[in-house]
Amino acid sequence: MAETAKCVYCRAEPVSERYRPFCSERCKMADLGRWLKGDYAVPAIDNRGIDKLESGDLEIGQLETEDDQ
Ligand SMILES: [Zn+2]
Repeated sequence: MAETAKCVYCRAEPVSERYRPFCSERCKMADLGRWLKGDYAVPAIDNRGIDKLESGDLEIGQLETEDDQ
């Protein structure tokens, strides 16, 4: 069933040979930007936000729910 690999970023579009493993330059750049912001050393801008992202998106959802109550 490995007919056409999906873009590793959007996981919706088939991979383009030119931009492997992405479907387009847009996804390639978006993924690069995500790495630069999130996974590499960040100079103490958003430490809390990054912590939350790494421990799971659920926390963010819960915060929104609490705010609603
Ligand atoms: Zn894509």
